[in-house]
Amino acid sequence: MRVFITALLPVLTLTLPMIAQTNSQLDELWEKEHVTKILPSNVRHRDLKIYLDGLRSRGVKVAEAGRSVLNKEIYQIEWGNGPLRVFLWSQMHGDEPTATSALIDLFTILQKNRDADWAKRIASAMTIRAVPMLNPDGADMFLRRNTQGLDINRDAIDQRSPEALLLKKLRDDWSPQIGFNLHNQNGLTSVGSTPKQAAISFLVVYGDEPKTSNPGHERNRRLAAEMIEAIGSHIPGHIARYDDEFTPTAFGDNFSAWGTPTILIETGALQGKSEMFLVKMNFIAIAAALRALADGSERERDPGPYDNLPPNSSGRIINFIFQNASIIDPAAQGEPARGNIAVALQRRRAEFPTPGVIRRIGDTGTLAGLEEYDASEFNVAGRFELLKPGAFAELLFYKKGRTVDWAAPDLERAFPPDAIFSLGKWVKGEGVVPRKK
Ligand SMILES: [Zn+2]
Repeated sequence: MRVFITALLPVLTLTLPMIAQTNSQLDELWEKEHVTKILPSNVRHRDLKIYLDGLRSRGVKVAEAGRSVLNKEIYQIEWGNGPLRVFLWSQMHGDEPTATSALIDLFTILQKNRDADWAKRIASAMTIRAVPMLNPDGADMFLRRNTQGLDINRDAIDQRSPEALLLKKLRDDWSPQIGFNLHNQNGLTSVGSTPKQAAISFLVVYGDEPKTSNPGHERNRRLAAEMIEAIGSHIPGHIARYDDEFTPTAFGDNFSAWGTPTILIETGALQGKSEMFLVKMNFIAIAAALRALADGSERERDPGPYDNLPPNSSGRIINFIFQNASIIDPAAQGEPARGNIAVALQRRRAEFPTPGVIRRIGDTGTLAGLEEYDASEFNVAGRFELLKPGAFAELLFYKKGRTVDWAAPDLERAFPPDAIFSLGKWVKGEGVVPRKK
């Protein structure tokens, strides 16, 4: 009899109508109804509290779940009343903020649309709990770690931080059937062997080192495929798979081991797109996953788009390359050396200037710049220090043929440069050095 019922189940589920909501409708919903207006990297704990007050005033359940080392409130949001238990958490690394804003927008939009068919179906299929900004102390300092200097994502077993203790307790008390672990990755992560930025990377996390699959893991591969399809047309070629080495002390791996199969979403960066665009990508991806869980359509989904994702790569792209510059060393005799200058931007909140650092000088090999300039007609001198790897990329550009005393004590004033690149942008003479890409 039991065999008979089990055999019948897939047939029954096929009769559930699919939720009639397209990915482009999710896009429009976010455009019309999102409430996070602060760039995520500028959001502090006090801003989160204002966002959460907004959710409460709309009737969403928001409760304090615990406190950080510095006694800041850590909150849990709850929405829906169905049997499937879905758990999400964001910003356990304080300087990884994108998904915190996406969660606020997600619950705002679910609640605003609670009488619409698609949201009703989600509410009756599942209960969703989410902890936005698990690490408020780190978030306020824009630092990865908590105030004890602990990486919460390496504290799943030792449980030395109150934030890790809380996260484990929230899981153990409720035993969610699916987890979403929401992070940001280096903006210079690239997709496979391409020079394309990995705007979003996914990983369906195994619960053990031998990578044992189970029904929850297989479901999550299908869900990841659903999410990839949902955002794929927005960012074609910019989705990758996060490194899947088992990390015995990390939360995603342990959630999976403890019985909550987890999907890791790592938001990167995308040249020319703002942080808000990536909030929208998170929203669409997560909403699409919830939709597929609610109507059961994930069971029919081919996991291929996830299985075939190219892996994350690093060391292939950099923010700026100034090609073929003549690099001035005031102490050197003779003709200046020619070479490329490769510059990476440091990570800062959007409201702060972003220093660039010279990563390579001379031969930059196969490294690709997100922006590249042809500096072959220029002598380039350091504004404050000699140009070398590790130095700040404060660059003075002089057209060749000008007579300049490179040893002049105040070079910039004595010989005003034709262009100046400072704190990651042109502050003088933009367009003078021709852009190639
Ligand atoms: Zn992280």
